[in-house]
Amino acid sequence: MSAGNNSQVALVLFGPPGSGKGTQAKILQASLGIPHVSTGDMLREHVQADDEIGREVKAIMQSGRLVPDDLVNRLIEKRISRPDTDGGVLLDGYPRTLEQADKLTGLLRARGVAEVVVHLRVDYNKIIARLSGRRQCPKCGTLYNLASNPPKTEGVCDRDGARLIVREDDREPVIRQRLEAYERQTRPVLDYFARTCPRFYEVEGGDAAPETIAAEIRRLVGKS
Ligand code: ADP
Repeated sequence: MSAGNNSQVALVLFGPPGSGKGTQAKILQASLGIPHVSTGDMLREHVQADDEIGREVKAIMQSGRLVPDDLVNRLIEKRISRPDTDGGVLLDGYPRTLEQADKLTGLLRARGVAEVVVHLRVDYNKIIARLSGRRQCPKCGTLYNLASNPPKTEGVCDRDGARLIVREDDREPVIRQRLEAYERQTRPVLDYFARTCPRFYEVEGGDAAPETIAAEIRRLVGKS
C-alpha cells in the first residue's frame, strides 16, 4: 500500500476460528477486487516449504497456539508493501493480539488508509461443529463442510478431484486450544476495535448463506 489514495480501505475480517473469515474473504476478494491476505495461509505456505519460518512455527500451529507477534508483524508489513495492495486489502486472521493491532494501526496511519473492521458473530456450539466438519482441498484451497456444504462425491474436491484433507489443527483438542487462544489473546482486540475504530461493524455469521453475509459486508463497506 502506498500513501495518498483516499479510497483505500483495509478491511479487517474479525471473528473466532470457524466464524467464516476465510470463506467470506474468498467471496469478497473477487467482488471488491482487493487481495485476500491471510496470515494463517501465509504461515501454512512457509510450513509447506519447510523453510526457516516454517520450521519455527510448525509445532506452535499444530498445538493451536499463536505464533510470535514479531514474526507475523514482519510478514504483514512486507506483504502490504507490495503494489497489489495499492487499492486496498482484505485482512483475515490478523490482527489477533493487541500488539498486532497496534502495529497495524501504525502501518495504516502512515499510509493514510482507513481501517474497516467487521466482526463475524457466531454461536460457540456452531463453531465447534463447523471446525470438526471442515474439509479442504490441498490443491486449490476450496473449503467444504460435511454438514452445510459437502462435496458432490464424498472426500473428493468438486473442482479438481483431489482427495480432501482435514487440517492438522481442526482436530478436537487443538480446536479447544485455538478457541482458548481466541478468548484470551484475541477477544481484547475486539473490545479495542469496538471502542476506538469509527468503522466497526458486527455481522451475524451463524445462519445466513455465505453470499448473503458477503452482501451485507459489502453494503457496510459501501461497495454494494
Ligand atoms: P483460524 O482462524 O481458523 O484459527 P488461521 O488459518 O487464521 O485459522 O490460523 C491458523 C493458525 O496460524 C493459528 O492457530 C496460529 O497458530 C497461526 N496464526 C495465524 N494468524 C496468526 C496471527 N495473526 N498471529 C499469531 N498466530 C497466527
